[in-house]
Amino acid sequence: MKVCKFGGSSLADAAQINKVIDIVLADPSRRIVVVSAPGKRNGSDTKVTDLLIALAKAALSGANVDREYGAVVERYASIAQDLRLGDQITREIEDDLKGRIADKSKLTEDEFMDLMKAAGEDNNAKLIAAAFTARGRKARYASPRDTGMVLMGEHGDAQLDPESYKTLTRAFSNFEGIVIYPGFFGYTKEGKVATFPRGGSDITGSILAAAVCADVYENFTDVDSVYPADPRLVPEVKDGEGIKTMTYREMRELAYAGFGVFNDDAVIPAVKARIPINIRNTNHPSAPGTMIQQTRRSVPGTIVGVASESGFVNIIIDKYLMNREIGFGRKVLTILEEEGIGYEHMPTGIDSLCVMVKDKFMPTEVEKRVVNRIKKELKPDSVSVVHDLDVLMMVGEGTRYAVGMLAKVSKALADAGVSVMMFSQGASEVSSMAAVRTQDREKAVRAIYHAFFE
Ligand code: ASP
Repeated sequence: MKVCKFGGSSLADAAQINKVIDIVLADPSRRIVVVSAPGKRNGSDTKVTDLLIALAKAALSGANVDREYGAVVERYASIAQDLRLGDQITREIEDDLKGRIADKSKLTEDEFMDLMKAAGEDNNAKLIAAAFTARGRKARYASPRDTGMVLMGEHGDAQLDPESYKTLTRAFSNFEGIVIYPGFFGYTKEGKVATFPRGGSDITGSILAAAVCADVYENFTDVDSVYPADPRLVPEVKDGEGIKTMTYREMRELAYAGFGVFNDDAVIPAVKARIPINIRNTNHPSAPGTMIQQTRRSVPGTIVGVASESGFVNIIIDKYLMNREIGFGRKVLTILEEEGIGYEHMPTGIDSLCVMVKDKFMPTEVEKRVVNRIKKELKPDSVSVVHDLDVLMMVGEGTRYAVGMLAKVSKALADAGVSVMMFSQGASEVSSMAAVRTQDREKAVRAIYHAFFE
């Protein structure tokens, strides 16, 4: 059985929804269909979730909500009309929205916000089930409440209560036909609606894939595949080949360095259950997409992609005979911990140590305090802070056994005139990391891409 998730751009209007129905009906193993709220139809459009947030805010401020309410209803009404579903479904959506707004007085602001945000996926799932029926194929809406999608933690940033797996598995044992399931939200133990972080329909899909032990979790979006470099930095990447397969570890390393196709946190449930994840394109369903799985055959010396991320700061500490001073590294990390700073990378030499941290953790006053504490508590020969660094990650299972990997990377960067501020072929063995100056990022990513993919 396959669990498929369709994002907002795949469900933005009637034509997109018809494509989704065609895709689902083309493969009888596509049985659980997780849907987002309608997304943007074009660059200047607004997602239904954002319209609902505006509606919730207007309601909370006590203002007249007619305009915001009308904008939400209008989106669904036009989809329903273009799909020839009749007026009934729009009336039901209107009643649903009015009911939610009326519940405002019983809820805290956060609870109310989640109740409103969830309306996007919930009503879309009902509408899409009706669209299947209108095309003469039965599909049933399933509710997160009835199936036991119990969430905990903060509203707007909730997580699954792990106990839910049992109930979800039970709810989907021996079910018939096609189920349309709204993404993005569930219920607290107290019965209140709670949402995952934005983009959370991916999380719902991944949870259901794990709960039913799906053969594959198909995540339909609007790209043919994951590209080996960010097309915004390297536009020519689109003329080449997308990534056919990658491992979970490769995905994690690429996603860490800002590989934007999807959020790796979202797929943790599927990864833990070792469900293969297939990223596919709703607008080009014959493309096989990118398959992300536990293992793959890799060629030594190749990479699957190069990712980059901005906003790093390097703290460089030198001290003669540092390697003999037991506990030095721990003391540095303790200072960072006490200042609430997480660290990203820490390459060390015998007498020097670098700690790379995100610059958002190091506003000027924090930086001053950290440097003073390092000076006072660790008595180094020198401590300096380098700003405006970006990280490049060259990711591939094939880097592990490769001879000359480092030479290839440094030649590419040297030829492009990029100076490497730090390099580490890390413990993970699936990636090498280079830090470059922010102004060199684009040049560096292009150079690596051309060195490995041409
Ligand atoms: N509709 C929600 C959002 O816009 C969740 C999702 O699309 O995954 O964030």
